[in-house]
Amino acid sequence: MYYDDAYLQNFDARVLSCSPAEPVQGASGIQPAWEVLLDQTAFYPSSGGQPNDLGLLGEAAVVDVRDEGDEVAHIVDREVAKGGVKGCVNWPRRFDHMQQHTGQHLLSAMFQERFGMPTVSFHLGEEICTIDLHGREPSRDELIGAQRAANKAIFEDRPISVRYGTREQLAGLGVRKEVEREGLLRAIEIEGADLQPCGGTHVKSTGQIGMILVRGCSKVRQDWRVEFVCGKRAEQVATEDFERERVLMKSLGCALEELPAAVERLAAERDGNFKSLRAALQQLATVWGSQLALNAPVGENGVRVVSMVMQGTHPELLQPLATEIAKNERTVALLILEESGQLVFAQNPTAGKDLGGVLKSMLAAHPGKGGGSKDFVRAKLAEAGASAAAMEMAKRLIAQVKGE
Ligand SMILES: [Zn+2]
Repeated sequence: MYYDDAYLQNFDARVLSCSPAEPVQGASGIQPAWEVLLDQTAFYPSSGGQPNDLGLLGEAAVVDVRDEGDEVAHIVDREVAKGGVKGCVNWPRRFDHMQQHTGQHLLSAMFQERFGMPTVSFHLGEEICTIDLHGREPSRDELIGAQRAANKAIFEDRPISVRYGTREQLAGLGVRKEVEREGLLRAIEIEGADLQPCGGTHVKSTGQIGMILVRGCSKVRQDWRVEFVCGKRAEQVATEDFERERVLMKSLGCALEELPAAVERLAAERDGNFKSLRAALQQLATVWGSQLALNAPVGENGVRVVSMVMQGTHPELLQPLATEIAKNERTVALLILEESGQLVFAQNPTAGKDLGGVLKSMLAAHPGKGGGSKDFVRAKLAEAGASAAAMEMAKRLIAQVKGE
């Protein structure tokens, strides 16, 4: 029935059979299911890129509709008695599919006609729809150009009709896609824009598509996947876009048209601040590092060890500070950030320890990721809570490891 009238929502049918089917995933987990065959149906099964309808068969909820060759199988959540039954198609869902699907015909036709880019496949998702275009990468102007041309045809509210004919007859009418199938074929004609073989459901004039918005384009294997939305979805995404922009305008205190410049300015400011922070941390490391090395107690073989479990310190200070400390003869720096478990160990080569070995033994006891050389290692403990214990172990290992 959906072939003859895509707008049919309520219909009468006879239940030919109702048999137990594989359980299906429902709202509250796996649920039992039945498969119902009818003498006629307005329920569209998943096929040709368009998802199936949902709705009601009598009291039973239709949870899936499958194309099984000559039959349309309705998967329902309860048993349905043989005999007469009323069918009701979930109309908002179906009409959404009709808007997206018809919009796809139109958009594909515009890419083909204006830029010679054929559509090789179509997918109608829960949120976004896509067509895959064959050939070179469409430019930004071409994406917008196809969108504008499609919307122009929508504003003109052109009639859409179903035509039947053999492969040869349709080819003679200039059908957009060649088909392999023999026999009587069904084709959808958008007046003055497109003729395309299709078994799906479509709106009756382009005005009902409402609006097409192209949302993105990316490379998928050999082709270019164009994302788009039509109708109510276009209204929704445009509203959501503006809602996000409104939040940004408020937090940045600027007008809509100033947003890109404001964000650019913020990023430049952030980069500038980070540069100054690094310079300040380096200055701090230079002053503090020599002081720490000077005040560290002299141990065995005259080796000094500066060890600190640090709190509230910027992670970017660890490396310059350890490096500065290790500039001093026979000096080792062991620095760990308590909050994050980040650590840097460094030594002046004259200290003669093997920091790589120390780190390895330490990580065996307190897991984490890191590495380095004999004179410099950095790592991050998996558990920041282990910082103090890890430091105690590192100090013990440094004391044990014999100098060269
Ligand atoms: Zn179609």
